[in-house]
Amino acid sequence: MTVRPIVITGDPVLHRRAVPVEEITEQVRTLVADMVETNRAAHGAGLAAPQVGVGLRVFVWAMGNDDGVPPEGHIINPFVRASKAPEGHPDPDEESEGCLSVPGEHFPLRRGERAAVSGIDVDGNPVEFVATGWFARCMQHEYDHLNGFLYLDRLEESWGRKARKVVKRHGWGLPGGSWMPGVDPDPFGHDDEDERDL
Ligand code: ZN
Repeated sequence: MTVRPIVITGDPVLHRRAVPVEEITEQVRTLVADMVETNRAAHGAGLAAPQVGVGLRVFVWAMGNDDGVPPEGHIINPFVRASKAPEGHPDPDEESEGCLSVPGEHFPLRRGERAAVSGIDVDGNPVEFVATGWFARCMQHEYDHLNGFLYLDRLEESWGRKARKVVKRHGWGLPGGSWMPGVDPDPFGHDDEDERDL
């Protein structure tokens, strides 16, 4: 297994719809194994294939949950249907999200409390569960990646404005940006297992 570089916002692969996996080849198995390894090295909660530069509908997660789902897993060709996000403004202390493709930053947004998730695993077996709470948030965040959206695209206007400034200040928003987990300094300064980013 190999840790792969993580692509930063601005690269086209993050901003277009990923395509379904047609056949689970050795290449797809290697991709999943590498994504699990990369997510671990980055202390990520979740990682979608476009974030390692591959436009396929695959994501992995590493997140404890109250939903009886293994804390580390992967899904191929997922479908995620989330409940509606609650009305009102997001709480920056309680509802701030991060993303490995927007390294070191957090912005708040509302998400649905529940998400029904279905797809297959690398052996072609069905994967199906209902996620709640932060796990549901993680599922929605990763699914967005497969549809070419970052959480930045979903921010309220005032937070969106701040985010655009931050992206510009970092010199992101251009093709080709990436960072290397385990080599570059951890952008979120993770020093414990509880704090993870998507
Ligand atoms: Zn992300």
